[in-house]
Amino acid sequence: MGGSRWGENKTVAGRILSGNQIRDQILAELAEQVADLARRGVVPGLTAVLVGDDPASQIYVRNKMAACEKIGLRSRTLRPPADLSTEDLLAIVEELNADPEVDGILVQLPLPRQVDADRILLAIDPAKDVDGFHPMNVGALATGKPRLVSCTPAGLIEILKRSDIPIAGKRAVVLGRSNIVGKPAALLLLAENATVTVCHSRTQDLPSVAREADILVAALGRPAMIGADCIRPGAVVLDVGINRITDPAEAERIFARQPEKLARFREKGSILVGDVHPADMEELASAYTPVPGGVGPLTIAMLMSNTVRAAVLRRG
Ligand code: NDP
Repeated sequence: MGGSRWGENKTVAGRILSGNQIRDQILAELAEQVADLARRGVVPGLTAVLVGDDPASQIYVRNKMAACEKIGLRSRTLRPPADLSTEDLLAIVEELNADPEVDGILVQLPLPRQVDADRILLAIDPAKDVDGFHPMNVGALATGKPRLVSCTPAGLIEILKRSDIPIAGKRAVVLGRSNIVGKPAALLLLAENATVTVCHSRTQDLPSVAREADILVAALGRPAMIGADCIRPGAVVLDVGINRITDPAEAERIFARQPEKLARFREKGSILVGDVHPADMEELASAYTPVPGGVGPLTIAMLMSNTVRAAVLRRG
């Protein structure tokens, strides 16, 4: 990496890392593995628990179940009512833990307010925790023996490896320290021998830290916050953020240099943007994940991968 390819001209567009393509590759490989397991009498199964009728959750679960079908996994969605108690949901989880036909359990978040989500996630058998959120799985990752790893961060590593982007010895800066993205992403990059720095809301002079990155991961939940002042020319940028913009003034500001996107916003009244300023990323990064179509598609692929892995690990 480095600035030489830029010369005097910093407006050369970087390589697009297509999450859709990589997802399709992974799903095709998994389908072969599932077919092979089926020949030996094992058909891995994923059970989703979808509580209530949150429209976004319904779409997420439907997409996950469609991916199961695509690669030949058994899938099932339980739909308990929105007013169930923590105890009711714990009983469902216990039943799934005990069912030998269930390889993966996915409790779709967010849960209704009256349900203690921490207790539920702790109750899931770590061997069936295909979201990788259980402290046992987080601990396994932290101690360098990963089993089932949180899907979005695992997808980041797949994107880098399958795009032949070296990680070992590189400086990686992770923006965000959430339990589901930032922290596990940092641990995975460390496991791949990157030199890792994690930034958060208390970081002082975040741009100067971010500019040290060969590999910059943005997982902040702040639309287009990471701009040219944070991206070293030639860096690889992985934008995890998914933010829906509906404010015309914000859209004008973010997409001023991308008239086609602005036109799409005007047509639909909303548009998705990552945590990185899209035009700055395109101009400065040597390679980057677009939003949408970058990191997002990998999350479901890695869920499928975890389900197959859980089946193989648990059933020997
Ligand atoms: P969280 O809100 O849980 O965490 C955000 C992190 O960013 C926190 O660590 C917070 O710091 C930090 N942060 C927020 N604002 C700033 C700021 N101004 N300066 C510095 N640090 C800041 O978000 P998630 O990790 O769950 O998600 C991040 C983004 O990724 C979201 O846009 C989300 O939609 C997207 N996402 C995408 C997925 C995918 O499939 N592609 C899956 C999951 C998430 P602090 O800890 O100090 O508060």
